[in-house]
Amino acid sequence: MKNDPAKFTRRKFIITSTTVGASLLLNPFSSWAESESEVAKIVSGTIGVDTHNHLDVPFTDESFLAKQYDLSGELKKSGLSAICMTFQMDRPNLTRPEEAYERFISSLDKMDEILKANNLKRALNLSELKAARKENKPAVIQSVEGGHFIEDKLERLELAYQRGIRHLGLLHDNQSHVPLGDIYTDPPQYGGLTDTGKNVIRECNRLGILMDLTHCSNESINDALEVSTKPMLISHTGLNTQLGTNEKMAKMMMPRLISKEQAKIVASAGGVIGVWTHLAETPLEYAQNVRALVDCVGTEHVCIGTDTKMTARAGATERPGSMTNAAWKEQKEGFYYTVVDALLKTGFNKKEIEQIGGSNYCRIFDKATRGS
Ligand SMILES: [Zn+2]
Ligand SMILES: [Zn+2]
Repeated sequence: MKNDPAKFTRRKFIITSTTVGASLLLNPFSSWAESESEVAKIVSGTIGVDTHNHLDVPFTDESFLAKQYDLSGELKKSGLSAICMTFQMDRPNLTRPEEAYERFISSLDKMDEILKANNLKRALNLSELKAARKENKPAVIQSVEGGHFIEDKLERLELAYQRGIRHLGLLHDNQSHVPLGDIYTDPPQYGGLTDTGKNVIRECNRLGILMDLTHCSNESINDALEVSTKPMLISHTGLNTQLGTNEKMAKMMMPRLISKEQAKIVASAGGVIGVWTHLAETPLEYAQNVRALVDCVGTEHVCIGTDTKMTARAGATERPGSMTNAAWKEQKEGFYYTVVDALLKTGFNKKEIEQIGGSNYCRIFDKATRGS
């Protein structure tokens, strides 16, 4: 079911006035009904952004068909106003120079086609995002995970900018052919960022591309904070005190989680940190992970960054929890409806949800995309 905010409200109204109408007549102030309409009100009245959402397309053309990706339908169902649509180019492993660049260009070409087939546009700045929201049209902020395509050619960042990229994850799982800095899952080699890594940040500041420091070691993050003239993002992580119930998963994720101390360093530099859906078996556990980070850095420095996929190729088999609108077992509503409901149940108020759900991201996105 396509779940745009207006329809959601109407559908809820129908449910309210038929299925449980009798009990509501007896108790018109039922907290259930209140919470349902509060969710719809927040979803339709605010900007909700998933700051890290994958659309990884095949690097070769053989199996690609843009129409197989129902990006528009899933976005509407989710209730989100926008996703930072990202892709990686270092898996399978890169074997030669220029390969990352070829994958980068080929992925962007395919994303152009997917957006066209879905009648969607990239929002290049905050005004465009707000305009899309006003028209009740979901938007995409083009992002990329890993600066592998840059190699030592900084001018490729300008090309990325021209292609619509406004959000760059500096590092990913594998080191790029020309190293950019220490990755949190590798033994440290560079003592933080390399000179090339620092220059990438300077050039992104100049052009107007938001820097995403996920996958950076603490030393790399601190180097980036020193170099950057703009606030930055860590889009997908969690506090390293929130380990969930799956021990194996917690162990694997540990190097990817942020400490309270490091989170405070990022926040005090004006940064925003996204909580992913990993290590949360239910929406309420997710909301509690958000709460833990908010308690550490304050509401103005937390956002949502799922690390899930809004859409995949029709018919593809995806592992449980990897799709945004099916992030949790028995999730009945679209992603943002589910999260807003869980945040309300965890005691967050409308203003706090608006901040965490999107306006914190919008604030730094706006500052970063204004360029130098
Ligand atoms: Zn990542
Ligand atoms: Zn990712």
